[in-house]
Amino acid sequence: MRLNSVKDLEIKKGERVFVRCDFNVPMDEFGNIADDRRIKEALPTIKYLLDIEAKIILASHMGRPKEGFDEKYSLAPVAKRLHHLLHEEIFLATDVVGTDAKTKAHNLKDGEILLLENVRFEEGETKDDIEFAKSLADFADFYINDAFGVSHRAHASVHAITNFFDDDHKAGGFLLLKEINFFHKLLQSPARPFSAVVGGSKVSGKLQALINLLPKVDKMVIGGGMAFTFLKALGYEVGKSLVEDDLIDEAKHIMDEAKRLGVKFYLPVDVVVADKFDESAMVQYTTYQEIPEGWMGLDIGPATVRLFGEVLWDSQTILWNGPMGVYEMDKFSRGSFKISHEIARTHGIKVVGGGDTADLVQRAGDDEEMTFISTGGGASLELLEGKKLPGIEVLTHK
Ligand code: AMP
Repeated sequence: MRLNSVKDLEIKKGERVFVRCDFNVPMDEFGNIADDRRIKEALPTIKYLLDIEAKIILASHMGRPKEGFDEKYSLAPVAKRLHHLLHEEIFLATDVVGTDAKTKAHNLKDGEILLLENVRFEEGETKDDIEFAKSLADFADFYINDAFGVSHRAHASVHAITNFFDDDHKAGGFLLLKEINFFHKLLQSPARPFSAVVGGSKVSGKLQALINLLPKVDKMVIGGGMAFTFLKALGYEVGKSLVEDDLIDEAKHIMDEAKRLGVKFYLPVDVVVADKFDESAMVQYTTYQEIPEGWMGLDIGPATVRLFGEVLWDSQTILWNGPMGVYEMDKFSRGSFKISHEIARTHGIKVVGGGDTADLVQRAGDDEEMTFISTGGGASLELLEGKKLPGIEVLTHK
């Protein structure tokens, strides 16, 4: 199976290229872009097409608008930022496949860029509607998917639209290929020891990824809320900490499997407990054996940071997905920040997946030290689960 790159296509000057990007950037309360990493990551593909002097039609979603146009979810700020980054005029359509988009697409000259409005303003997008997909496809001679972050969704602009382009006219953009190749290499032939650091809220959200990763890694390090289901499975009282009782057997099974496979499995040895889920809560440090009744564990403790740091030190590959605690609250963010620093200090390949973890690494000031930070949270998790992504499946050919 092969996935074409934009470079494999014979695109000529003046030909029309539709590029599905992921410009779903976080916005602050004043409507400003809070983090433009996703826009910057799309630039290599756009610049490549600019050099060819193709006519470029960009499309993306933004947030989850309910019905039709909603200023709050407009791509206008993205158009502005693209203009600043590229120093090129960006024509923004006021609709997706309506008269304005069609007129502007028609008037586009060689080497010019049109940005369509948020594709989710059309209800056909999330329904993978073939008619809507056809209207999008009508804009172009070639289709490029550079939106890794939505490739796990069968939506019209990443899935149904590919029906209208043959293998010589559709491909992945540079960002998409970078993401896919990285995860592929990571899971097929990682430099060893290979450690996975998995955190976040619940076991259920990452169960399949844990099961899929277990036979591939040398060490598995568990933090965050999900650790408490494992600790309970070992027979400890965890107070009011987050526990999924229905997954206790599954947690036991994962630990048994780890033992059988010779995977070193690590859980926190101490935790920061609070009397309530709030920034103003009273806190204590305690070992996992002594969590007081009625208290909840919201972060890993200092002994665990030491232990995990020791465990990860000799790793040649580290995959990190999920925070070690409720990092959004300052009081419970230390464990996650310290583990970020520990991972950043190691010398091997360090891969960060998941929106929360990417955000965390950036806030910890460690993003420059990481080898690769995936732009797609859900999509990267599905790759780790061993699933095939619908948006990628339709681009591959024999
Ligand atoms: P996920 O989306 O599964 O990666 O989970 C990320 C969320 O897990 C973050 O919002 C954290 O606040 C939350 N989280 C991490 N540790 C804990 C914990 N000990 N208890 C409750 N929530 C947690």
